[in-house]
Amino acid sequence: MKALIYDAPGVFAVREVPTPAPTGTQVLIRVRACGVCKTDVHIHHGQFFAAFPLIPGHEFAGEVAAVGDAVTRTAVGDRVTADNERQCGHCYFCLRGEALFCENVYAQGVNAPGGFAEYVLVEEGQVYPLAAEISFLEGALIEPTACAVHGMDVIAARTGDEVLQFGAGPTGLILAQLLHHRGAAPLVVADLSPVKLTQAARWAGAETVLVRPDDPSAHAQFIHERCPRGYDIAIDATGVSRVAAGLPEYAKYGAKIVYYGVAPEEDRVQVSPYEVFRKELKILGSFSQAHTFARATALVNTGVVRVHEMVTHTFPLEAWADALKMVTGTGDHIKLVMTP
Ligand SMILES: [Zn+2]
Ligand SMILES: [Zn+2]
Repeated sequence: MKALIYDAPGVFAVREVPTPAPTGTQVLIRVRACGVCKTDVHIHHGQFFAAFPLIPGHEFAGEVAAVGDAVTRTAVGDRVTADNERQCGHCYFCLRGEALFCENVYAQGVNAPGGFAEYVLVEEGQVYPLAAEISFLEGALIEPTACAVHGMDVIAARTGDEVLQFGAGPTGLILAQLLHHRGAAPLVVADLSPVKLTQAARWAGAETVLVRPDDPSAHAQFIHERCPRGYDIAIDATGVSRVAAGLPEYAKYGAKIVYYGVAPEEDRVQVSPYEVFRKELKILGSFSQAHTFARATALVNTGVVRVHEMVTHTFPLEAWADALKMVTGTGDHIKLVMTP
C-alpha cells in the first residue's frame, strides 16, 4: 500500500509499504478520508510524544476491507470511523479509571501507524459505524468531535452560562455547537476569519466578533460591552498563547478559563495569583479524548453536530507538503482532509 512515512521529524516521503493483514480481533480499514490537524504540525516537528518512523493521521474514516477471524460485529464493506487510541488497561491511571492519562497509550498517527495511508489496521473495539447519509469526509471529523465532547466534560457548562470562545477552527466550531446545544447565552465567538465566523453563527448560534490584529481594541471593546461583568467561561481554542494569556481580562467572578487549543510546548503565560484567588478563577485544560468516540459518533450520525460544510480542501498523499503549509498558515480554510 501507499503511505506517507516520517523517518524522523521533518523528514517524510510517500512510499510503498506492506499492507497489514488483520488477524484475530483486528479490522483493516481502506482509508477514504483522514483529517489534517494542528497536532500533525506538532508531530512534524517531533513534539506531542510522536515516535518515529511514523505514518501520521489520527482522524480516519473508510470502509472495512478485511477482518480477522475473531471479529463478530464488523463486516467487509462497512462504512466506519475508528478511535485512534487504545489504552493499556493496566497502568497506574487506567486502574484509577483515568484512561486519558494512560502511560502506555497506543495512539495511531502519533506513536503508532495512522491513517495517512491507503489502509490502517485497528482493533474491532475501536470501530464505529457511520450512518448511511454521513460521508467519509464527515466521518473524518468524528475524532475532532470526540475531543470536543471531552472538552464539554471538562468545562461542565451550566445552561445559561455566558461563554466567550476565541478560535473557530474545526474543533472550535464543533465545541461551539455543543456549547450552543448546552444553552450558552450568549455564546460569543471571536476569530480572524469571516468565513469561520459565518459557520459559527449558522451552526452554533454564536454572536461573532471579527478579530483585527492591527486593532485589538475594537474586538476587546465589543466583548467587554456584551457582558460587562465578564464571562462564566472563557475558552482559548486557538492555541495562540497571547490569546490564552488575555483570557483573565474577560473572566467573571467564579469563571472557568479553558485551554482547549494546542499551544507550543515552550510557551509561557503570566497569571496573577491574586486575581485567581480574589475572583475564584478556575484554570482548566482539555486534552485529546478517551472513551468519547461513541458519543461523538452519535452526535455526527444524528446531525446534532454539523460538520458537512467544514471540509474546504482535500489533498492526495503526494500533496502533504501543501497541506502542511496550509494548515500552518492563517486564512479562510477550515478543515483539510487527505484522501489516500
Ligand atoms: Zn486532531
Ligand atoms: Zn494505561
